[in-house]
Amino acid sequence: MERLAVKSQELREKRVFPKLAIVRAGERPDDLSYEKSVLKKADSIGIRVQVFTLAENCGTEEVAMLLRLINEDQNIHGTLLFSPMPKTVNEEIVRRALIPEKDVDGITPQSGYGVFSGRRIGFPPCTPEACVRMMDYYGIEPDGKQITIVGRSMVVGRPLAMMLLQRNATVTICHTHTKDLKERCLEADIVIAAAGVPKLLNGEYFREGQVVLDVGIHPDGENGFCGDVNYEEASAICADITPVPGGVGNVTTAVLLEHVLEAAEQQNKWRDLEE
Ligand code: NAD
Repeated sequence: MERLAVKSQELREKRVFPKLAIVRAGERPDDLSYEKSVLKKADSIGIRVQVFTLAENCGTEEVAMLLRLINEDQNIHGTLLFSPMPKTVNEEIVRRALIPEKDVDGITPQSGYGVFSGRRIGFPPCTPEACVRMMDYYGIEPDGKQITIVGRSMVVGRPLAMMLLQRNATVTICHTHTKDLKERCLEADIVIAAAGVPKLLNGEYFREGQVVLDVGIHPDGENGFCGDVNYEEASAICADITPVPGGVGNVTTAVLLEHVLEAAEQQNKWRDLEE
């Protein structure tokens, strides 16, 4: 975060004031918790945040229109759209309304193409990038490793699989129809849990020497949180495991803010060229 604070300061000295728009429909507890964390960290490094709230029963055109207005707003550099959106919204259409330049969480088709082709087009989604960054930081090399990802969502499992494939890992993606989930986890060098089911993977899914990244985050007891992995059981067996809270979630927020700073810098360069 220190590095980001310096970059933010440098931009502000050039009269560029990095700003993120958050678009949230309804009041889902996990959205509110992520929003709170983003607001706190953004404030600590001088990034402005404007939260746009919509009703839980909002429609596709309403969200798309808001995104178009944000696209036009030169003071906003990045947009975070909380997903999943309510059932009343066609997310496919909404994602196309955002311009890739402001797509700091990699949700547009252009950003998706970047992730799937292994080229840097726009920004990759923050959570998969956070997983890769954590592996880099802790010296966990994906090249040649067997990695099992539990979850195939468009925001975590699938893009993460592509990013790790790009790093020469052999990737297995598991989902609700996977018959031998335990075996797929036990055979991996690295297990990444992103199923959205509290404590789905207990000690039986792990063996010695494995590294586990737990992406899941769920309310647990009074004011507590847990992941998709039973931390007590897995941590007693595996070589390393990311905690919940404080693991992938924290890095995801940092990656998001870094993307906002990059977007602000980039958009400022283009403006300079236009003038
Ligand atoms: P999702 O519900 O969209 O997708 C879950 C995936 O897991 C699906 O592909 C499903 O097939 C698979 N799955 C569900 N139950 C399974 C089971 N029993 N066995 C095998 N596969 C199963 O969820 P998502 O948006 O990808 O999020 C996953 C988790 O990560 C959630 O807990 C979410 O809150 C968390 N999350 C955390 C961050 C972060 O920054 N830490 C960011 C995004 C999501």
